[in-house]
Amino acid sequence: MSIIVHKYGGTSVGDPEKIKKVAERVKKAKSAGYDVVVVVSAMGHTTDELIELMNCVTENPDPREYDMLVSTGEQVSAALLAMALQTAGCPAISLTGGQAGVVTEDIYKKARIKEIRLDRLKKELKDGKVVVITGFQGIDSKGDIITIGRGGSDTSAVALAAALKADVCDIYTDVDGVYTTDPRIVPDARKIKYISYEEMLELASLGAQVLHPRSVECASIYDMVIHLRSSLKDDEGTYIMSPSRIAKEAGKMEKTEAVRGIALDDNVAKIGILKMPDKPGIASQLFGALAKEKINVDMIVQAINSQGTHADMAFTVEKTDLKKAVEAAEKVARVLHADKVVADADVSKVSLVGVGMVSQPGTASKMFGALAENGINIQMISTSEIKISCVIKAEQGKKAVKVLHQAFGLEKVS
Ligand code: ASP
Ligand code: MG
Repeated sequence: MSIIVHKYGGTSVGDPEKIKKVAERVKKAKSAGYDVVVVVSAMGHTTDELIELMNCVTENPDPREYDMLVSTGEQVSAALLAMALQTAGCPAISLTGGQAGVVTEDIYKKARIKEIRLDRLKKELKDGKVVVITGFQGIDSKGDIITIGRGGSDTSAVALAAALKADVCDIYTDVDGVYTTDPRIVPDARKIKYISYEEMLELASLGAQVLHPRSVECASIYDMVIHLRSSLKDDEGTYIMSPSRIAKEAGKMEKTEAVRGIALDDNVAKIGILKMPDKPGIASQLFGALAKEKINVDMIVQAINSQGTHADMAFTVEKTDLKKAVEAAEKVARVLHADKVVADADVSKVSLVGVGMVSQPGTASKMFGALAENGINIQMISTSEIKISCVIKAEQGKKAVKVLHQAFGLEKVS
């Protein structure tokens, strides 16, 4: 029999009425003849509330007890959903991650899933039950409850779907899919029907926070199709899958769209070090110092001055890391006798993402042209095979997204 896996996020199981709605949807899938496994998050903001409680009793929580505490949120929603299903006449059982055979690394708070032992799960399915599993957790080799990182239920669901060899992992959430850009900025942003894992990861890291990035990585390893969709509607959402599946589904022999989506990241700050000596080891010293402070550096640009003796270096960090990064850069600048360190927190990063870019020359020049025509100055540029990013003035961020969305015709249904 075919197995389907549904995952419901915190808002979708946020109150008893919503849990009953979820039960109806799950029951429908079961009645359609599928074996159904459901993975749930904690209700609403439960996990945050548990962490607040924790902060009231200690400043220095023991990681083992942290996992013991925060894993309880999912247990509440799983048990309630199982009861709602039973009450609706649908046989169901809830299982903790450990009971469901989810084995993790021996690391508290952010373990990876190592394997899933399916015996119990298969037995319950064979008995005709819907199995509701707590997301976000598993057990380690000692039998301790382990959580897998905030937002990890998506990853639990994809890992279970992969282990069960389900055709697709349906992730139900409070958005109805992935959009070409933020619809609050561009009202005619379009819901994307198919997006590749790589593109989704880029858009997620660029601020489109819809899915736990590790769930997308896991899906790409196992070629698992993720269907991200709304728990309030029956409409299809966005399918996240491999480019070859996309090409087949879309009925196109060759991929066409150069740009799949546009992201705006406001959490950026720019730092420049002027007139560093131009010799081996300089970049390593600077970025070594930043790495030691655990500062994530994103874009890096080095420009050589005309005499070839000195180079200016510019890079971006998260806004929250700016102060630390400037301090570290100033230390290095002093040692190297660089001219000075300049910082600017008043910037944003706008990025075009699309796997089709590589085969379509002119994407970058079209981007730069559209920005120029609208008086938007580009301060830094970085590119990869599937992404072009520009750092611009923060106040022009939204305008940049609008003009680029239009320039690339993303509002048109493809
Ligand atoms: N409840 C957990 C969290 O809030 C896991 C999840 O929802 O995915 O981080
Ligand atoms: Mg989530």
